[in-house]
Amino acid sequence: MIVNEARVETFERIFETKPEHVDGAKVRCWYCGTEITYRTAAIDHIFPRAKGGGDEIENLAATCRPCNTHKCAEPVESLRRHIGMKALGVPYVSREFLEYCRSNPMTLGEFAEKILDCRFYFEERMQREGLRG
Ligand SMILES: [Zn+2]
Repeated sequence: MIVNEARVETFERIFETKPEHVDGAKVRCWYCGTEITYRTAAIDHIFPRAKGGGDEIENLAATCRPCNTHKCAEPVESLRRHIGMKALGVPYVSREFLEYCRSNPMTLGEFAEKILDCRFYFEERMQREGLRG
């Protein structure tokens, strides 16, 4: 992927506007907290462009590629399942998923609760630091 100047500039504006992205010397995905770089990150429209979301800085976040891919043109809440599964270490491959279910027996209700209980990285940061929200 080519790192062009406009892209880097957009990332810098995002990080300035949203200090929750920055964790010491590391920059983290807005949703899952994975460390990202200009090279590996995607620019996400929090409220999807396909649904009328704009390019203004408040609507942009830097994310890892898997989060960006999973969220696609859906609202933020739709990503919580992906983050929850990632946090639990649930594999996406169906054969591995069956194996996971065998070694972690729980009801579907318990499973759903665990997954939907997860927090986005920005929610944790905002709470931890008493930032807005
Ligand atoms: Zn992510």
